Amino acid sequence: MKLFLNFIILLIIGLVLLSSSCKEPYEDVFEVPGDNSKEYVVMLSLDGFKYNYSKDNTLEAFDEIKSRGVSSRLQPSFPTKTFPNHYSIATGLYPDNHGIVNNTFWDPTREVIYKISDRSKVTDGYFYGGEPIWVTAEKQGVKSASYFWVGSEAEIDGIQPSIWKVYDHDFPYYQRADSVIAWLKLPESKRPHLITWYVDQPDSYGHKYGPNSNEIKDKLQELDQLLAYFIAEAKKLDIYKDINFIITADHGMGEISDTKYVNLKDYIKSEWGVHLNGGNPVYNVWAEGSFKDSVANVLANVANINIYDKNNIPERLHYMNNDRCGDFVIVADSGWTLWNSSSAPSFGTAGTHGYDNNFTEMDAIFYAYGPSFKSAYIHPKFKNVEIYNLICNILDLKPVANDGDFNNVKDMLEE
Ligand code: AMP
Ligand code: ZN
Ligand code: ZN
Repeated sequence: MKLFLNFIILLIIGLVLLSSSCKEPYEDVFEVPGDNSKEYVVMLSLDGFKYNYSKDNTLEAFDEIKSRGVSSRLQPSFPTKTFPNHYSIATGLYPDNHGIVNNTFWDPTREVIYKISDRSKVTDGYFYGGEPIWVTAEKQGVKSASYFWVGSEAEIDGIQPSIWKVYDHDFPYYQRADSVIAWLKLPESKRPHLITWYVDQPDSYGHKYGPNSNEIKDKLQELDQLLAYFIAEAKKLDIYKDINFIITADHGMGEISDTKYVNLKDYIKSEWGVHLNGGNPVYNVWAEGSFKDSVANVLANVANINIYDKNNIPERLHYMNNDRCGDFVIVADSGWTLWNSSSAPSFGTAGTHGYDNNFTEMDAIFYAYGPSFKSAYIHPKFKNVEIYNLICNILDLKPVANDGDFNNVKDMLEE
C-alpha cells in the first residue's frame, strides 16, 4: 500500500513538472519571432521647444548633437496643443484617430469632460485610442520606461510601461535625468530599451514671457546645460554606443498681444446653448440643434478666426471626424487670441500655441543621434506622426497601422 502511495505521489509530481515545462513563460507569449534590436531609444520631449530657438541661440549641446546626428524641423498635428501632440508622437496617429482631440474635450459617449488637470481622466485608458509605442514594445517583449509622457499613466490595452511615474510638474529635471540613467544601469533582464521622458520647459516660459523674450533665452541655456549633463552621464554607461537619443517637442510657440483678440461673447447669444471646450486659441464647439446654423453663420464672418465643421475643414488638418471634436472647431489666426468672457480681457500671457499646424511658428525641434542615425544629416521638415515608425524600425518592432509612412523618414537612418 505504502509503495502504491509513493508511486501515486511521484506520478503527481511528474505530471506537475511536465505541465510546467510545457507552459510557455509569460514573456514568450508576447515575443515575436525574430531578434529585437540590441539598441536603445531614449526620447526626451522639451515642451514647446520651437524649431528656431536652437537656431537663433547658441546652444552648445544641441549644436553638438546636430553635428553628430540628424536634425530637422517637426510639424505638429492639429490642434497644436500638448496632449494631442505627445500622444500623436507616441502612436503615429492624428488626434482624430487617437481620440485626445484637445487638452480639454467633451466625450459624448460617457458625457464627461476630459481635461489635463483631472487625474481621474488622465489615468483612464478609456480615453486613449491607438497603440502607443511603449505598448507596441511591451507586447513584443521589449521593456519600456517613462519619466512622464501623455498616456503613460493609463493602462492602454491593459498595458503600461514596465516603469512609469505619477505626473509631478515640479519634480526636479536633474533627478528625472538621473533616474533615466539609473534605468539604463539596470541588469539586462530589467533594463528598458525604450525610454520616454519629459520636461515642461520652455513651454511655461514661452507662455509667460513670449517666444522672443530674454527670459526664454535664459531658460534655453538652462535646458542646454541639462542636455549636456544628461549626455555626459550617458557617456559613462557601458551601453552608451548602443543608445539612440531623440530630443524633440510637441509644438512651438507664437507671440500674442493684448490688442489682437476676438471675444466670442460678442457674437454668440446665450440662448444658443453653446459649450466651448479647449483653450486659447482653439475651441471645440457644441451648439443646441437648431442653433448650429446660427453659430456657423455668425462666426463665418468674423475676421481673424476660422470656424470649421466636418464638411469644410481642410483635409490636411485631419480633424473633425472624431465625435469628441464637437459640431465645430474654432481657431484663431496666428498672433490672435480667442477670448470668451463678458469681463474685460486680461491675458497675463505673452505666448500661446494650438493654432493651425501650417503656421510655421508652431513647428518644433527634432534632433536624433546614435548608432542608427546618420551623422551631420539635415532632414527636411516632417510630421510628428512619423516618429512612431522610426522608433519601431530602430527597435525591430512590428508597428501597428498608423498615419505615418516610414518612407518619409528612413533616409535619416544608416543603411
Ligand atoms: P499646454 O496648455 O498645452 O501648454 O500644456 C502644458 C502643460 O501640460 C505643462 O505645463 C504640463 O504641466 C502639462 N503636462 C504635460 N505632460 C503631462 C502629463 N503627462 N500629465 C499631466 N500634465 C502634463
Ligand atoms: Zn506643450
Ligand atoms: Zn503650452
